[in-house]
Amino acid sequence: MTNNEKEKAQYDVIIVGGGPAGLCAAMYSGRGMLDALLIERGLPGGELLNTELIEDYPGFESILGRDLAARMTSHTEKFGASIVTDTVDAIEKMDDDWFEVRTQLGKVYRAPTVLLTAGGTPNKLGVPGEVEYAGRGVSYCAVCDGAFFKDETIAVVGGGDAAVEEAGYLTRYAEKVFLVHRRDEFRASKLLQERAFKNPKIAVVRSQVVEEIGGGPSGATSLKLKDTKTGETSELAVTGVFIFIGFTPNSGLIKGHFDHDPSGYIITDWNMMTSIPGLFAAGDLRVQLTRQITTAVGDATTAAIAIEKYLAERQEAAKEAVGSA
Ligand code: NAP
Repeated sequence: MTNNEKEKAQYDVIIVGGGPAGLCAAMYSGRGMLDALLIERGLPGGELLNTELIEDYPGFESILGRDLAARMTSHTEKFGASIVTDTVDAIEKMDDDWFEVRTQLGKVYRAPTVLLTAGGTPNKLGVPGEVEYAGRGVSYCAVCDGAFFKDETIAVVGGGDAAVEEAGYLTRYAEKVFLVHRRDEFRASKLLQERAFKNPKIAVVRSQVVEEIGGGPSGATSLKLKDTKTGETSELAVTGVFIFIGFTPNSGLIKGHFDHDPSGYIITDWNMMTSIPGLFAAGDLRVQLTRQITTAVGDATTAAIAIEKYLAERQEAAKEAVGSA
């Protein structure tokens, strides 16, 4: 049950973000009898809600993203975590060693530990036309917008798992999908590549960078490309442009210095604790080799158990301090 009414101000742990990592951590925290609050700005599920079909989560040979999200949410609620719908603006460690989590609805929640599982935001190409035709041909979510392009010719930009997988998904609706990548080699998994390259509706366009998205009053109508080898320019007539070129971690919510890599991904220790004691991170915004549902829930499990230990040690230290005073 998503519940804005019952919330209070102080918790053992505040979990920011309700994707698979956040939901899993809240479930473990509930089972560990911690008083946990999960704050999610939309419907719980995160990236699961932007994914049509999931075929790589053990125990489910094939499940719709929204169905897995619903199952994870009800599992979490069963163990008593509170979920509130709000957008977190800032996470800050205060002088009294507690964290304050401030939200857009003007709430200030406090806890000795915070787990950040807020994922990331899709990267933009930064070319002319991208902002102008956003929502009028330009999209970052195939599941959300694919059906608007029935029998049309569209392009997908990117060469990672997301681009290659979503190009395949979009062939359900579109008559033709150009899969446009800036290099010859795709970084997507071999299995996904094989599947996409065999799909008769997908035309692979290699070594091309997008220079501009053209259009008119009806929305996007073309993709202007430049060959990275010859410098030649060309144009594809498309009514949709789906951009999957990675994402930027939502680590900017943390006020104060924390260790991160050059792209802003958070560096943690093996307990998922960041360089700020008591602040943990799990899932897609953490520095790691790959970002899967399975890695997100793995991180979250470690983080939730480490948080329990951290809180117990903190309590023990406080008792000792009182005893020796
Ligand atoms: P990604 O793996 O970082 O791939 C981003 C792709 O976009 C790369 O091919 C990159 O090209 C290209 N790109 C980046 N900036 C670009 C630009 N300015 N112009 C044109 N192309 C640009 O991102 P992702 O595909 O979103 O995946 C993110 C993570 O989620 C990955 O760890 C992935 O494995 C995981 N994921 C997994 C699945 C699955 O297993 N089913 C599905 C989706 C995502 P270069 O290759 O040239 O750098």
